[in-house]
Order: sequence, then structure tokens, then C-alpha cells
Amino acid sequence: MGVSSSLENALAGVPSGYRFVEGWGMVSGSHSRFVRPETVEQLQLVMKACQEEGVLMTLRGSGCSYGDASHTEPQENRASLVIDLTGLNRILDFESHGEGPDGKPAGYANVQGGVTFGQLWKHILPQGHWPRVVPGTMQPTIAGAASMNVHGKNNYMVGAMGANLRAVDLVTPDGELHTLKPGDDLFRAAIGGMGLLGCITRLEMRTQPVHSGNVAVRGVSATCVGDMMRVMGEHEDSTYYSVGWVDCFAKGKAAGRGLIHLARHLKPGEDPEPDKTCKLSYQQLPASILGFPKNEVWRPLRILNRDLGMRNLNRAKHFMGKREAKKGEYLQSHAGFNFLLDFVPNWKFAYGRKHGHGLIQYQPFLPKESAQGVFEELLALCQQRGFVSYLGVLKRHQPDDFLLTHAVDGWSLAMDFKVTPQNRGRLWDLCDAMTQVVLKGGGRFYFAKDLVIGPGALRRAFDGESVQKFLEHKRDLDPKNLMQSDLYRRVLEPYNAPVDLPLTHY
Ligand SMILES: Cc1cc2nc3c(=O)[nH]c(=O)nc-3n(C[C@H](O)[C@H](O)[C@H](O)COP(=O)(O)OP(=O)(O)OC[C@H]3O[C@@H](n4cnc5c(N)ncnc54)[C@H](O)[C@@H]3O)c2cc1C
Repeated sequence: MGVSSSLENALAGVPSGYRFVEGWGMVSGSHSRFVRPETVEQLQLVMKACQEEGVLMTLRGSGCSYGDASHTEPQENRASLVIDLTGLNRILDFESHGEGPDGKPAGYANVQGGVTFGQLWKHILPQGHWPRVVPGTMQPTIAGAASMNVHGKNNYMVGAMGANLRAVDLVTPDGELHTLKPGDDLFRAAIGGMGLLGCITRLEMRTQPVHSGNVAVRGVSATCVGDMMRVMGEHEDSTYYSVGWVDCFAKGKAAGRGLIHLARHLKPGEDPEPDKTCKLSYQQLPASILGFPKNEVWRPLRILNRDLGMRNLNRAKHFMGKREAKKGEYLQSHAGFNFLLDFVPNWKFAYGRKHGHGLIQYQPFLPKESAQGVFEELLALCQQRGFVSYLGVLKRHQPDDFLLTHAVDGWSLAMDFKVTPQNRGRLWDLCDAMTQVVLKGGGRFYFAKDLVIGPGALRRAFDGESVQKFLEHKRDLDPKNLMQSDLYRRVLEPYNAPVDLPLTHY
């Protein structure tokens, strides 16, 4: 359905059009009308016109959420618009000599919501700072990340995005701009609020002073998932970053073996040439990998990207990890350590580029008491069903009090699964079985990654009072219920239906 004429007026002069808008995993998406405002005023006019005309709005940053958080299927008899926020991409200000609420030296970057992590670190590193929280790729926008309350490899140490924000501006569907601060109830709703209350147009985000362009990294080989959790747990008070790569093919006593990376910032004076290592030229990821131009590396990866190839690759990585663990501490650039996945651009294409092919990620968060048992059960379940994740990543987390929080004092295990039209039904069945195990263990789910969870799982896993408070905010700020996404209609809209809700969305 087309959009109304008063909205057409608001769109005049603003970049807009039609395109296929999909989740990062390439498994979901649809052809949509989009607009890409370049100023906050343009955005306000567009949102106001949508509100007047009853047009559905879906907010989108860089589209790095694996599933359906930032796209929308056409709805019967309702016009809809994807609002692409990447045009609001100005770094407004950077204050390098501030103090955090903990009294420690801090910087604060004042950025528009569409600024990416890549843009931000390139601006602040030459000034001796690094963002406190970054996800595993530098592509996401800061506002998109705040809307999912993303975490880095140091979640246990510094909290997630929301804990490192000093203020955000939120434009609500009526076009009004609100400045929210930690402590405001609406701040607790908007951070992690999946873009359903309004559009975040500006953020003040804490940054970390650094004394080098490198971090000191140490590999530790782990014999099984319990061993990995023990080692990471032992270092959590003293190590700034900690992440475990898990070989999901290993069985029996070796289930969950892998390689841990522990990393710390260098002390003042430890790097004799900080001006050199903080230069962008030093942080460049290599232009080629094993002789292949890096933009093309996904092509040979596609040949490996099946069970046999990935089993061997994981095994080789485990044995190389044992060697790495013997070499002690080594230096790696901030960009190299934090954005390892960006070394191979478009690596996801190795999962297939035809319609219906792609990948999903299943990343449950488990309390520390039940995590090990649940992860062991999940790894075994995957193997029994013949779906082994090609990449497993273990992280340690801390809880927070945002209304839709997925966080726990515990651990998450992220697992990537290849999707094809042939395996889709069986894979969703496996996810259903895994969800039952996770719920038994008191776990939660992370919607930045998810495409499979049904509303019943949200109802059972999340704090009901907080979800109701969130929905109240949504009714207040968005009385016509226009801020929607496929994710919203999948898990939140049915939340209060007086029926048994499914755990999995097929
Ligand atoms: C390779 C890879 C690695 C990743 N690693 C991690 C990781 O280590 N840790 C982690 O936590 N996540 C990780 N992610 C997930 C990613 O960080 C999140 O999905 C993030 O939200 C993506 O931001 P985006 O700008 O792409 O937003 P999108 O994916 O486009 O949107 C995300 C959500 O934000 C909303 N939104 C977008 N812009 C705005 C705005 N201006 N105002 C309000 N709402 C808005 C959307 O409606 C949607 O609900 C990873 C993703 C990839 C692809």
C-alpha cells in the first residue's frame, strides 16, 4: 500500500525510495518503502506526518541485528515506512578530560544516533580514547546499539551500552524531542527498547582513556566448557576483556573446548610509541588474507562452510589455540582485537546468497548457577539433532535494570546456524527444544540476534512487571501503536493475549 499525501509532503526533499530491507542473517526481510532523514528536523516532520496519517514506522540503523528487529512485512490495509537513521551521522563533540560516575577518568562523545562505532573510534583513538562498549563489528550505529543495549567482551567489567550513557535525545511519534538521563523511568524503557518508543537522535557516550593503540592479549586453551568458565571466572576481576571461542563439534568430556582470549589495556609508559600505535594507519585491518583480497575471502570460505569443513576448521583452531596459549602475552591493535569479524568483509555470504539461505544466531543468557549444565545440554542436543554451530562464543555478563533487559549475572553462549530452505523446519524444531532447556535453567533471550523465539518464551523468561511497564510507556508515547517491527509483532504485541503463547515462532 502507498503512503498518504501529507506524508509525501514531509518526504519531499528527503532521500527516500523502495528497497529490499533484510535482517543481517539474510533469512528475513521484505521490500519496503524507506526514508533516510539527514537532519533531526526532517525526522521530526516525517514522524509527525506518520502519526497524523496512521503510517507504521520501523526504525533502522545499520541493519546489523541478525533477525527481524529493524524490518517490517507489509501489513494489510496499512502503509508502513522504514526510517533509516544512518543519515544522522555527525559526531557533535568530544570531551576527553571528563570523569565517570565512578570517579575514574573518562571521555564523553556527543554523537548523532546514526554515527557508527567505526566512525567513533576513528575519531577518538588519535585523541587517546576508545569506546567503553563495542560489539563484535564496527558497523552498527550507536543508537541502534543503545536500542538493543549491546555488550562488548567486557560486559562483566563495564556493563552494557546503557550503563555507559550520560544522556540521550528521543524523538517520540508526535515529533517531540525529549532528553533522557539515567534515573529517568523513560531512559530505562528506551535503552533496550528495540526502537518501539521513539527515535534516538543523540547520545552522550562514555569513552575509555587508553595509553596505547594496542591491547595486551593472552590466549588460554580450555579443555571443556566448564574449564572455560572456570578460567574466565578466575580472571573476571582483573582482566578488562574476556571472550571464549567454543568448538561446538567437540563431544563428551571435551564438549565446549576452545580458546579464551583475555586482554588488558596497557599502562601509561608501557607503549613507548603511543602516538604511532593510536594512528589510524596502525589500526588498519590487513587488505588481504592468505593472499586473497579480503573482500573476496568469503568465496573460498563458502566451500569450507559445511559440516566436514567446519569440523576440521574448528579442530585446527583448537590445536592452534594450544600453541597460542604457550606463547604468553602479545600485542594486538584495538581494532584487530575488538572487530575480529570485520577482518573478513561479507563473511556471511559464505552461508549462501540465494533466497532462503543465510544464518541465524541463538544466544541464550543463563544465570551463573545453571549456565554450565545448560550449555552442556545445548551442545549435546545440537549434535544429536545434526545441527552443530560453526561458531560458538562464550561471554560473561552482569545484570542491569532496563525494562526489557535480557541481561543476567551469568553467561551467554552465541551459536550460529546455517539456514537453508530444506533444513529450516528441523532447525526451528531444534531451537524450540533448546528454548525449553534454557527456560528450565532460568535463562533469557537476546533480540538483537534472534529470529525464532515466540511470545511464550518472552512471557516465561522476562520480568512480567517490567514488560508491562514498558508496554504502558508504549501506549502513552505511541497511542496509535505505529512504532512496529516484525520483531515487535512476533514477541511483544501478542504478549498480553489471554492464551497459551508458543515458545517458538515458526
Ligand atoms: C557480526 C556481528 C557481531 C555482533 N556482535 C555483537 C556483540 O558482540 N554484542 C552485541 O551486543 N551485539 C552484537 N551484534 C548485534 C548488534 O550489535 C546489534 O544488533 C545492534 O543493535 C545493531 O545496530 P544497528 O545500528 O545495525 O541497528 P539495527 O539492527 O538496524 O536496529 C536494531 C534495533 O534498534 C532500533 N533502532 C535503530 N536505530 C534506532 C534509533 N536511532 N533510535 C531508536 N531505535 C533505533 C531498530 O528499530 C531495532 O530494533 C553483532 C552483530 C553482528 C552482525
